[in-house]
Amino acid sequence: MESILVLTHVDENGAALTKASLETVTAGLELAARLSAALTIGIIGAEPSFAADVLASSGARLLAVSGEALAQPRYASDEAACEALCRAAQATIVLAPATSRFARVAAGVAHRLSGFIDTHITSIGGADSIEATRWFYRQRVEAVVSRDARPWFLLLDAGTHAAFAGLAASAKLEEIAVELPPLRTTVSGIRAPMQDAQTIRPDARLLFVTGAGWTKKQPDGQIHVPEAGELILGFLRLTGASLGSSKSLVDQGGEGQPVLPFLTHMNQIGQTGATPRHAKGLSTCCHGEEPHVVGWRFIGDRRAISLDPNCGWTRGKADVVYVADAFAVMAKVNALLGTASAA
Ligand SMILES: Cc1cc2nc3c(=O)[nH]c(=O)nc-3n(C[C@H](O)[C@H](O)[C@H](O)COP(=O)(O)OP(=O)(O)OC[C@H]3O[C@@H](n4cnc5c(N)ncnc54)[C@H](O)[C@@H]3O)c2cc1C
Repeated sequence: MESILVLTHVDENGAALTKASLETVTAGLELAARLSAALTIGIIGAEPSFAADVLASSGARLLAVSGEALAQPRYASDEAACEALCRAAQATIVLAPATSRFARVAAGVAHRLSGFIDTHITSIGGADSIEATRWFYRQRVEAVVSRDARPWFLLLDAGTHAAFAGLAASAKLEEIAVELPPLRTTVSGIRAPMQDAQTIRPDARLLFVTGAGWTKKQPDGQIHVPEAGELILGFLRLTGASLGSSKSLVDQGGEGQPVLPFLTHMNQIGQTGATPRHAKGLSTCCHGEEPHVVGWRFIGDRRAISLDPNCGWTRGKADVVYVADAFAVMAKVNALLGTASAA
């Protein structure tokens, strides 16, 4: 009989669990129900009682390792806390979200427990056994992995499960004592880019893609790069969307052509770029060629604005295509969004 442990941790504010943690709770509940196995949820944070109350209705056994040393991510303290939770739960299967905090320590914890780890898991299936799915080779080859080794750690990609949302109640939380090793790293704070500068937002509902058309000559014979930048950043500010790009546009910097300064290769979507998961996608000034569109594999509702009625999007790659000037459309959209947010 498997003993399943879901590892979770609190977010930067210290009280609530991260969304990725709540998604992993859903995965744990589904797996435990399917295997009729015991489920334990381990929480890491300075003060985990609020997080525990949110999990009360899950029916799982709740364990926590808490204390000021766990307020911030740090390899030595997180590793010791995770190991203590795994031992207390006598876990054979450990599910953890692939947050930066856990991705850093999970392999080390698995090693300490003489276990095995698989990462980038997107689903867990199987009838009596456990079959974990992950993608290889830029999301083109899907593998189903099963192992006899225990404990088996599975690091789940974000966005692959619905976040657990049970009614909060007073929870019975078991505190697990842990002896931390000497801590040589002091966390003095977080230095993060301004919200405006951080354009890649994996948790956003909408992916907004910019193509090379934004920097090309427009019907008036001129290029309008500063105006393009304002429209794009304005839309991101108003919607909180994540910014993606075609390869042609992010490559332009190296080719001495007009560039949008806030775009890097990190924004590139496609065969040689990223394959993000968002509920919706809006492509602008992009042709929708196959090497780009393969990066949209996990985008649910797809729309595009393109001047070209024969572009790739109109050939079955988007749900809706607006054959229109993206400068005019986005100016109007931003104006409407601005009015709505002011109201
Ligand atoms: C091996 C390989 C790997 C590749 N990997 C990737 C990848 O990972 N990601 C990727 O994106 N590409 C990739 N490519 C490149 C890809 O094939 C295309 O060349 C690229 O996606 C084209 O980018 P684009 O549509 O932005 O530019 P363009 O092809 O120049 O299209 C610009 C579009 O903007 C439209 N437009 C212009 N002005 C406006 C306006 N005012 N309003 C509306 N529309 C307007 C034009 O009509 C045109 O359709 C790869 C290619 C190869 C060979």
